[in-house]
Amino acid sequence: MPPHPTAAASVPGGEPVAAAEEESPAARRLRRLSLHLLQPSAPSAAHASSPSSSLVPAACAGRRVVEGGGDVAAALTAYLRGRHRAAQMRLYDFFCARPDLQTPLEMTTAAHRELCFRQLRALVRDAGVRPLTLMANDPAEYFAVMEAAGGADISLGVKLGVQYSLWGGSVINLGTKKHRDKYFDGIDNLDYPGCFAMTELHHGSNVQALQTTATFDPVTDEFIINTPNDGAIKWWIGNAAVHGKFATVFARLILPLQGKGGEPADMGIHAFIVPIRDLETHAVLPGIEINDCGHKIGLNGVDNGALRFRSVSIPRDNLLNRFGDVSRDGKYTSSLPTINKRFAATLGELVGGRVGIAFCSVGVLKVAVTIAVRYALLRHQFGPPKQPEISVLDYQSHQHKLMPMLASSYAFHFATVQLVDKYSEMKKTNDEDLIADVHVLSSGLKAYITSYTAKSISICREACGGHGYAAVNRFGALRNDHDIFQTFEGDNTVLLQQVAGDLLKQYQEKFKGGTLSVTWNYLRDSMGTYLSQPNPVTARWEGEDHLRDPNFQLDAFRVNKLSPQYRTSRLLHSVAARLQKHSKTLGGFGAWNRCLNHLLTLAESHIESVILAQFIESVKSCPDEKTREVLKLVCDLYALDRIWKDIGTYRNVDYVAPNKAKAIHKLTDYLSYQVRLVAKELVDAFDLPDLIIRAPIGMQSEAYAQYTQYVGF
Ligand SMILES: Cc1cc2nc3c(=O)[nH]c(=O)nc-3n(C[C@H](O)[C@H](O)[C@H](O)COP(=O)(O)OP(=O)(O)OC[C@H]3O[C@@H](n4cnc5c(N)ncnc54)[C@H](O)[C@@H]3O)c2cc1C
Repeated sequence: MPPHPTAAASVPGGEPVAAAEEESPAARRLRRLSLHLLQPSAPSAAHASSPSSSLVPAACAGRRVVEGGGDVAAALTAYLRGRHRAAQMRLYDFFCARPDLQTPLEMTTAAHRELCFRQLRALVRDAGVRPLTLMANDPAEYFAVMEAAGGADISLGVKLGVQYSLWGGSVINLGTKKHRDKYFDGIDNLDYPGCFAMTELHHGSNVQALQTTATFDPVTDEFIINTPNDGAIKWWIGNAAVHGKFATVFARLILPLQGKGGEPADMGIHAFIVPIRDLETHAVLPGIEINDCGHKIGLNGVDNGALRFRSVSIPRDNLLNRFGDVSRDGKYTSSLPTINKRFAATLGELVGGRVGIAFCSVGVLKVAVTIAVRYALLRHQFGPPKQPEISVLDYQSHQHKLMPMLASSYAFHFATVQLVDKYSEMKKTNDEDLIADVHVLSSGLKAYITSYTAKSISICREACGGHGYAAVNRFGALRNDHDIFQTFEGDNTVLLQQVAGDLLKQYQEKFKGGTLSVTWNYLRDSMGTYLSQPNPVTARWEGEDHLRDPNFQLDAFRVNKLSPQYRTSRLLHSVAARLQKHSKTLGGFGAWNRCLNHLLTLAESHIESVILAQFIESVKSCPDEKTREVLKLVCDLYALDRIWKDIGTYRNVDYVAPNKAKAIHKLTDYLSYQVRLVAKELVDAFDLPDLIIRAPIGMQSEAYAQYTQYVGF
């Protein structure tokens, strides 16, 4: 319905603005902006749905639409950028000054891989970045560097992640001092390019089913690494096809004669450092076969390979022994009592990779949204008779496509900054609650954000019409390179189940002490009580103040220590009851599968509430009033758009009455329109240099000129 029929004088569902003196500065600004875009006599509501009658030319579209818009963008940037922005800017400047390191649009897989390696080497050796040192001492700066590298080329960001988060991260987090002493510098300065070899041909997500073995030989004091069958060939291993000299290989640790009746004992999955190429000659070492996984649908700067081991001997010291060790006489020791606990601790140490992927995915979303919004402001199509054409961002449908997405970029930005802070704190303190929190949060945010970004890139492409299809305008590469973010570092569907599992665990822990049946009975009763009592009064509240009240929004979204808030609570109560019912007949695994879609919805709902809570906090903490008001607008759009998208859930049990549902819809459209008025400032505030945006249609100025120049005019 935007522009809101009476946008110049009132707010939807609210009272007309009585006098200019009573307005807040931000409201005054928005009103002025509305006037700027609307004809003096605003169209009536009846006409508002017809683009040709309701939309008027935005004379200034494509230029700044906000008086002092530069200030708004600058203030937002200052709030968003955080203390690591300087490191990112240094990297952007570095790549700007080195045309030889910029990725061309077309190149062969082999050339892209070599370029990507050169980019990484230049970053380390010429720009003097030491990523492993950063990861160990200042993880937040490490992730900022990774995001900036991904801005230059997503392949580079991933190559950096393979070398430092995965190969380096496995050595420093799963190994002990002797491993750090021996490998740290070589990994950091790239003398030791390496791989993280977990996935096998037959098993990716189910890591506990890996089949590669590492059998201890007490005679030689070595482990023998072996690929027992083709299904156990290590597959998709980044850095393996061309550049890697070492691999952290995940394998079952086998101790001969230590099992029952003198059988070999399988101690579960452990990690081992295996040299794979000669340090001097780069020849593949004996007993190792490496093949290339070949051309991929994206990320072709990364050389993924497949590895087979034929009884390859490595010293006993190459076991990364933080959580389990083998003595000279072949005895196993661990501070953790069970295979499952050791496995959880091992995987728990690898969350850094997932944090990096979530963080970088937001970076990709910002690039895509920036290109789409700038182009939508620039692009003029149709208009009222005898008047100039209007910017496509003035179409309600376009606002509907792009503005909630822009709001989500902000929401995800704050959520991942918080995740990185928590991760850094966890690394410092090793606090157990924090470890659990970061595990769940990184799984959930990685899954939720990468899925959202993957879908959004396609919407952005479509929003740019035919020019969105030109490779130079980036959406093809962004989509293809980013797509796999949904799968590696944990498949999203699998990760969301970990979030749901954790919520259920917390749920059960709440009732510790009682017998299981008491717990379930309580759940059934409380759910019955809860669902039978929607508040008929608040269910009808439709005023703007109420809908934009963070308390209403949070209450609608989330669960907080199982207090009776709405959506997540309801999903949790109901899925717990269903699991209990089905497990009687189907067993635990079957019941879980029977409720799987429900569990995934629960996990997504929880993550959305975490994102919203953080966004609301970030709005509150913003010190500058003007900036805070713009952020509040964006936050409200994020919240109400999500509620509207899931309105069926709220309507089903009358948490929201029909009049309120309608008011939410109207306000969402109106907020999209309001956000449109500051859309340029909001994307400028991401502060992405043209070199990172690169798409001619997404340039800060002269976009058409840059585009025509590109094709040769
Ligand atoms: C470009 C690229 C780079 C990679 N780099 C590396 C690397 O450097 N090192 C490394 O070790 N690995 C790497 N991988 C492997 C990657 O981590 C795995 O592909 C990923 O973990 C998913 O495993 P999978 O491929 O076996 O998928 P599968 O687990 O087989 O999943 C297939 C489908 O089944 C679904 N599914 C699976 N289990 C469940 C379940 N329990 N419930 C519901 N649905 C389920 C999934 O959602 C998915 O849609 C890379 C992969 C690619 C493509």
